[in-house]
Amino acid sequence: MFEKKEKKTGDSKQRLTSLAELGEFGLIERLTKHVKRYHAETLKGIGDDAAVIDAGDKVILLSTDLLVEGIHFDLTYMPFKHLGYKAAVVNISDIAAMNGIPKQMTVSLAVSSRFSAEALDELYAGIVMACDKYKVDLVGGDTSSNVKGLAISVSIVGEAKKEEVVYRNGAGAGDLLCVTGDLGSAYIGLLILEREKSVFQVDPNMQPELTGFDYQIGRQLRPEARTDIRNLLLGTGIKPTSMIDISDGLASEILHLCKQSDVGCKLFEEKIPIDEHTRELAKEYKIIPSVAALSGGEDYELLFTVKQDDYEKIKDVAGITIIGHMTASSEGKYMITPDGKSIPITAQGWDGMRERQ
Ligand code: ADP
Ligand code: MG
Repeated sequence: MFEKKEKKTGDSKQRLTSLAELGEFGLIERLTKHVKRYHAETLKGIGDDAAVIDAGDKVILLSTDLLVEGIHFDLTYMPFKHLGYKAAVVNISDIAAMNGIPKQMTVSLAVSSRFSAEALDELYAGIVMACDKYKVDLVGGDTSSNVKGLAISVSIVGEAKKEEVVYRNGAGAGDLLCVTGDLGSAYIGLLILEREKSVFQVDPNMQPELTGFDYQIGRQLRPEARTDIRNLLLGTGIKPTSMIDISDGLASEILHLCKQSDVGCKLFEEKIPIDEHTRELAKEYKIIPSVAALSGGEDYELLFTVKQDDYEKIKDVAGITIIGHMTASSEGKYMITPDGKSIPITAQGWDGMRERQ
């Protein structure tokens, strides 16, 4: 069958819906609206970082992620080993976001003849390195040729006790909004790599100038998953009320928690943890540092909420920052700037903030 651009119904042409107007989440919603659930063991299906499946005294967590050349990675500056490591880590991060322990993964490849076996050896060296670090068993996958480029799909299985699992939908008004580590550096790392790529494209004799940006480039090319947070929180006696990993940027992830938990939020701009050097670099790129955190993504830190009563327990935990609190849904979703302005949080995070440059 040949694909038709437009379907004709009688004489009138029916306009087809473009994917751009639906957006990623609109598309997922549209595609999955007729999905039924046949098994009571399926505790959570679509809509969280991982599906949750009842397995008696524990639950199984299941998640999958697809990385496509030209969309998610650029082999001009992404070494194969790092790519393999990152493909594994982004999946492990989704298990961490459910407060689970990663256990097994499968890896599927669609690869064009442009690639050598040696390149794929490197890719697998990176995957195995991540499996060793996070103690995950690589238990299978699938391999296919591809017309063009490289695509890697990783699926991961994790485990947790039923009462340990943290969903996106448990936040309540008044809960504290917290984040691990710092944000925005992966995005600045990407900008540096893109800049050096364009210099290289103009003059291939130019060597990329990457020294002094180790942290930012490392955050982009070789992220880590925060599987350590589970034990850290266990040690403080806190169970988050909701949690998500930051793959797309702080703004978008906050909106997911708000939507799924039916709450609003107040985020305080000056509280967003950003590495000092990243802050300076952002300014060089004429980007408000908080915008790099809000819209950049790929930091793979965890964003979570805790009950207000846990304030004393969480306020001094190293590596965790309270950046705001949740409100009633009717109060909206706002970022408060240091001079007290309220800016609506949007998925791109750009609109309201661009004017301030
Ligand atoms: P994450 O950023 O944590 O990887 P996504 O934003 O990719 O999660 O996906 C959101 C939810 O939608 C997840 O529960 C995911 O499993 C589900 N999902 C994404 N794409 C599809 C699809 N093509 N079919 C069914 N479910 C999907
Ligand atoms: Mg996720």
